[in-house]
Amino acid sequence: MIYNISRETGIPLIGTIYFGIIDRGTNLLQIRASNICNLNCSFCSVDSGPDSKTRANNYFVELEYLVDTIKDVIKYKEIQDIECHLDSTGEPIAYPKIVELARKLKEIPEVKITSLQTNGTLISKTKIKQLEKAKLDRINLSINSMDGELAKKLSGVKWYDLEKIKYFAEEIAKSDIDLLIAPLYLPKINDGEIPKIINFAKEVGAGKKFPPLGIQKYEKYKLGRKPIGLKMQTWWKFYNHYLKKLEKKHSVKLILKPEDFGIYKINPLPKTMKKNEKVRVEIVGPGWTNNEMLGVARGRAVSILNCKKESGTIKTKIVSNKHNIYVGVPIN
Ligand code: SF4
Repeated sequence: MIYNISRETGIPLIGTIYFGIIDRGTNLLQIRASNICNLNCSFCSVDSGPDSKTRANNYFVELEYLVDTIKDVIKYKEIQDIECHLDSTGEPIAYPKIVELARKLKEIPEVKITSLQTNGTLISKTKIKQLEKAKLDRINLSINSMDGELAKKLSGVKWYDLEKIKYFAEEIAKSDIDLLIAPLYLPKINDGEIPKIINFAKEVGAGKKFPPLGIQKYEKYKLGRKPIGLKMQTWWKFYNHYLKKLEKKHSVKLILKPEDFGIYKINPLPKTMKKNEKVRVEIVGPGWTNNEMLGVARGRAVSILNCKKESGTIKTKIVSNKHNIYVGVPIN
């Protein structure tokens, strides 16, 4: 099912990972207008996409409601150099008003940078032009292999077309939008592909203002997918062995710090519920997974796990409140 989160629903846009705004206590706000995805990547950390075994529902946030809430958050933070990063637990360009959203965010005086993360499959020449006109600063584009067959296999869909994605990468790099290529390193699966991706990023001219590459480490999460044959790696090994060696070999910056993007720590939004606190939560609709409901308490959205009730209120223990993302479980 797809649910629209409009102002009228009264559902706050702070509190869940699957829609709204995430403030991790820096000058970067993650903006999640929808959580729909069109791929079934074999490595997806959130088990997203049409073939997902665990994700039951999708959400679209009403544009004006989202923009007004972002303005409120920015007012609270009292700084003049906010980055709004359009990301998602799906594919951000699946949001039909993504261009309008990017434009409206850039019009906010305190927003200095707007950036967008994408798997590239819904990009077109027109969309690049529109995003350029909306003054989008950067696109983080995922490319995980330079081999068409492997790229297709990793994407989990037969129609994935690497050549098209490479073409659009070139088009982005030629535009006023900066390009950052963000491959996911999958040890024993795409080892040989990463150097080719680095060369490609150099050739197309990624990294006009920001670093050209952002190699990601694979992490296994509770509901996430893990490709067969993948070898897990520690963070230490990833940074100190893998990235360091690649940096030296290819003379390109790969170990990235928040400062490389102008990101710094600044007052986070106040938390309204403590961990282990018992709170009465109003159930407002189905949650992202089958056994989960979406609730509201103290001005925040709450994901209530293992919730059998479908309406009314429920006594809930908050089991997690990190970065104002609230997860609770029912109690008697
Ligand atoms: S990894 Fe990203 S693009 Fe792939 S299925 Fe998950 S959310 Fe979608």
